Amino acid sequence: MVNFTQVELREMMGKKNNIRNVSLIAHLSHGKSTLTESLVAAAGMIRHEGDVEVPMADTHADVAQPAMSIRSAGTSLLYEMNNESFKSYKGERDGDQYLVNLIDSPGHTDFSSEVTTALRVTDGALLVIDAIEGVCMQTEAVLCQALNEMVRPILCVNKMDKLFPDLQVESANPESVGHKLFSGLQDEGAKPESMGERAYKILSNVVENSNEIMKAHGAERLGDVQVYPETSSVAFASGLHGWAFTIASFAKKYALKCGVDETKFAKRLWGDNFYDSAKKKWTRKNSGSDNCIRGFVRFCYNPIDTVLMACMNDNKGELWDLCQKLEVSLRDDEKDLTGMALVKCVMQTWLPASTALLEMMICHLPSPLEAQKYRVENLYEGPLDDKYAEAIKKCDPEGPLMLYVSKMVPASDVGRFFAFGRVFSGRIAAGMKVRVMGPSYVPGMETDLHVESVQRTIIWMGKKQCDVPDVPCGNTVGLIGLDACITKSATLTSEKEVVARPIRAMKLSVCPLMFVTINCKVPSESPKLVQGLKRLAMSDPVVLWSKVEPGTYTVAGVGELHLEICLKDLQEEFMDGVEVVSSPPVVSFRETICKSCDPVERMSRNKQIQCSLSVVARPLDENLVEAIEDGRLGPRTDHAVRSEILAKHGWDKDLGDNIWCFGPDAVGPNVIVNRCNNIIQNLELAKKVIVAGFEMVGKEGALAKEKLHGICFEVHNVNIHADEALKGTTAQLNKMVRTALIESQLAAKPRLLEPTYIVAIQCPKSALSTIYGILHQRNGSVYEEFVREGTMLHILKAYVPVYDSFGLSKAISAATSELVTPQCIFGYWSDMCSDPFQANAPAGQMVLDIRKRKKMGRPSFQK
Ligand code: GDP
Ligand code: MG
Repeated sequence: MVNFTQVELREMMGKKNNIRNVSLIAHLSHGKSTLTESLVAAAGMIRHEGDVEVPMADTHADVAQPAMSIRSAGTSLLYEMNNESFKSYKGERDGDQYLVNLIDSPGHTDFSSEVTTALRVTDGALLVIDAIEGVCMQTEAVLCQALNEMVRPILCVNKMDKLFPDLQVESANPESVGHKLFSGLQDEGAKPESMGERAYKILSNVVENSNEIMKAHGAERLGDVQVYPETSSVAFASGLHGWAFTIASFAKKYALKCGVDETKFAKRLWGDNFYDSAKKKWTRKNSGSDNCIRGFVRFCYNPIDTVLMACMNDNKGELWDLCQKLEVSLRDDEKDLTGMALVKCVMQTWLPASTALLEMMICHLPSPLEAQKYRVENLYEGPLDDKYAEAIKKCDPEGPLMLYVSKMVPASDVGRFFAFGRVFSGRIAAGMKVRVMGPSYVPGMETDLHVESVQRTIIWMGKKQCDVPDVPCGNTVGLIGLDACITKSATLTSEKEVVARPIRAMKLSVCPLMFVTINCKVPSESPKLVQGLKRLAMSDPVVLWSKVEPGTYTVAGVGELHLEICLKDLQEEFMDGVEVVSSPPVVSFRETICKSCDPVERMSRNKQIQCSLSVVARPLDENLVEAIEDGRLGPRTDHAVRSEILAKHGWDKDLGDNIWCFGPDAVGPNVIVNRCNNIIQNLELAKKVIVAGFEMVGKEGALAKEKLHGICFEVHNVNIHADEALKGTTAQLNKMVRTALIESQLAAKPRLLEPTYIVAIQCPKSALSTIYGILHQRNGSVYEEFVREGTMLHILKAYVPVYDSFGLSKAISAATSELVTPQCIFGYWSDMCSDPFQANAPAGQMVLDIRKRKKMGRPSFQK
């Protein structure tokens, strides 16, 4: 381990060829946090007094999974490459030392917004996959997210220890189930395969499955994003035991020892290459003789197996011989170790995880300089030839400051937050005054725009928090002093750069699907609740809150677990332990329509007032809804792009220019369009009241005040009298607009939409019937079932209405002795396919239930 001074560290932060910004992404429990810990433990650190210890990823020990990481946090590691490792390295470099900024993100689907925020500030992703469980639902989801953000992936097949039978003797924990599934598998009647051969098949299957996704989702600009063991963009690791290898790391060892050509030999260590030791020859086909063994098995798997066996059998004579051959030297006290401790010690000395993984990151992931060249198109909202785009492209420290804050991280002192982000150009320094553009900022306007001073600039080295005077582009950074003006994310530029456009908002892959109603146990403590809710919303990329009545609020989150953790954070972290009472979670629905209505005309009621509005509600094409939700189509979309997208879905050429607003919240999946043939009198006022009404109805539809989804309101005629006396009050106008919109929705065959989860489950065959039973009880329908190749794991995928999903994870865990944990992700809004006007139809019943809960009374439209 190398120790660095702060001055050296600052110098490294300026060498942009020698920086790697990397996220660790994976399915839940595939071992990211364990791997991160082992990297942090081994990498070079800064030591000086007064540093504060902070946990790497915030962990909630008591919820569902022990020590599951919930929030992502960044940490920087220093690594020195040796000359041997540079032999096959082709990129530009500036000395031997590298700075790796690493972000561990949570794997639970409820927290996948944290993955998005991590990916935004990194250029590469280490995809971690459990060797036995293989590519899971969340593996695929996070990988696609990475590719969408133009983040290049490399692969780490983890938990390799499960593929070595000798290591399984001690384990009585559920983890060993994977191993049983592996070792218990043998085709009846076939010639018994060696453990090594079976391990190879499982591993190559993991690599192939990952590559299929990479090929399908990689953007052209990223080039080939697949991973190849033979070129060492794949590592094989046991994070728990602290060891890992790549094909190159073995080839290098053999090259040094036996004088073979490293690159040629590496190619033999993966794929169908077999070595016949009797004939001393390589072949592409297995001759079937006992001497003919696959290169990977003979030269990688078997040597590890031999060492592990010697350790576990406490066969020290053989072990010291092996160690000598492998040039592994242990200290005397280490030689007294036994069992798993001995395994860890020998393996970490022989194949240290940090070396294999950090070198793989350095050799196969882009530096900020390389990455920003192509990422700029996804990142910057402004013209790609302005000076800000140029500076991002070049990762220019002398250019104007462009910094994106992707999340707010709660600091240890209650109520304070670090703004965590990435400097894309220029540099940020403590004391600097910055212009803060929030997500609702519109160029030229003052909304969501602030000027504020940065008090301190901070980075995390390993587990320590260090103050640095400034941070140049290409690095991640924590900022103190911006809590008051950033809620979740923002773009920062220097104060004088008033024409800089913001960095594009992140597209989160989750949305609030359920909410709880909360209030303080002791009513007099309510003022603290609002403060606490503000902080909670700041700390989490998705949480939304709103007031029901004084003292009572709703908090909306992604799922059951997410809400549970949010409420715990709210009380313990953000309200100093003040007790909060909450209702059980309630599901959010959406309202839509399935046909166009005839024009609905409403006049202002008062006889003296002569105003009217005529609107048509029609369903918005599903693809357009998707484009709006993806962020491809919205209020800030470029004129030409907007027309092109709309034209594809049958909109008239110029109609795009007549969109007054998306909504609700300016970005929702509904639009209001001006289709008046005549010139509108009082246009500004008309637009203003109509947009305001649309915003309200968008949030509270006609059926049950749920949000609208996929409705286009066309304004066919609007008449607001110029004469003050004949115009009426704003309240009267608002009422006219709202009634017209609501009536048009009701006239257009309205429908209730309910959220549906995709539930993925991996289980042994014996658990299948129990699980089918549980799914059936909850109106789930299984749409896919298969056995993971090379294992005995059955994979099930089912649709389950979110409404019926409460307690599903717990029920399945309990019924399978905690062996099986289902994963739920939001699938789609599904039409309840029954008449919401009919009290005895499911949708009608639901409408009544929701209205009762909201104290809305029986609907006048109910038959
Ligand atoms: P994360 O959710 O991806 O951060 O996963 P964790 O690092 O928290 O690990 C989840 C579980 O897998 C824990 O019980 C770990 O002890 C276990 N685990 C992690 N790495 C390994 C490994 O290399 N081998 C085995 N057998 N278990 C591991
Ligand atoms: Mg974790």
